[in-house]
Amino acid sequence: EKKMRLDKYLVHTGYGSRSEVQQLIKKKKVKVNGEVEKRPECSISPSEAVVTLGEEVVDYKPFYYYILNKPAGYITATEDPRQETVMDLLDPVTKGRSLAPVGRLDKDTEGLLLLTNDGKMAHSLLSPKKHVDKCYYAEVNGKVVEADIEAFESGVEIGEAKPCMPAGLEIIEANEETSKVYITIREGKFHQVKRMMKAVGKEVTYLKRVSMGDFKLPEALAIGEYRQLTDEELGQLT
Ligand code: URA
Repeated sequence: EKKMRLDKYLVHTGYGSRSEVQQLIKKKKVKVNGEVEKRPECSISPSEAVVTLGEEVVDYKPFYYYILNKPAGYITATEDPRQETVMDLLDPVTKGRSLAPVGRLDKDTEGLLLLTNDGKMAHSLLSPKKHVDKCYYAEVNGKVVEADIEAFESGVEIGEAKPCMPAGLEIIEANEETSKVYITIREGKFHQVKRMMKAVGKEVTYLKRVSMGDFKLPEALAIGEYRQLTDEELGQLT
C-alpha cells in the first residue's frame, strides 16, 4: 500500500484543512500506533496505522459511502449561501470527508440519498446506461388509473427533446381524491417524478425515494439520520 503523510491522512479522514491538522499534530493531539507524533510529514500506511485523536480512533477509508435519510427542507448541494443543505445534517468529521450527494432530491423530497467522495461510483449510479433503478413512494392528488401505468410504460412526454424512458408505476391505493403509488425511473431529469405525474394530470403532494438498485432505504434509519454503507449494501448498489 502507498504511504501517506500524516497531515494529508488527517485531511482525508475529515479532521480539517491542511493547516488545521498541522496544528493538531504540533499540539501533540495525534498518536500513531500509540505514540505521540509531532511531525506532519511523518509517513504512514493509511490502512495499517492506528491513528488516534484523544479517545477517537481515526476511520480511514480510501472512499467513504454514506446513506442519509433526507428530511424535507434541505437542499441537495454541498454549499449554499442562503439555504440549509444536506451537508448541514452531518457531524464535522463526516462533513470533512469531501462528500458529495449522488444525484439530487428536491428540497421537499425525503428519503434515500447517497453521499460519497468516490466520483466514479457516483457517475455510474447516475448514468441512465447503467440502468440503476430509483424507486419512489409518492402521494398524489387524483386517481391513478391503468391508463397512467401504460403511459409510464411507453415513455411520458415532459417537454424535453425526448420522452422519458419507460418507467414503472405501481398503485398501492387509489381513490378519486388521492392515490399512493410507487414510481421507478432510471434517469434523473430535473423534477422528473413530479413532471411525469403532471403529464398524466396529477400533482405530487409527498415524495420519498425508497430504493436505488437492490438497495432499500433501511427502516431503522430515521429521517435526518445517516451512517456508512456496509460492504454488502455497497454491493447491492453496483
Ligand atoms: N423526481 C422529482 O420530481 N423530485 C425528486 O426529488 C426526485 C425525483
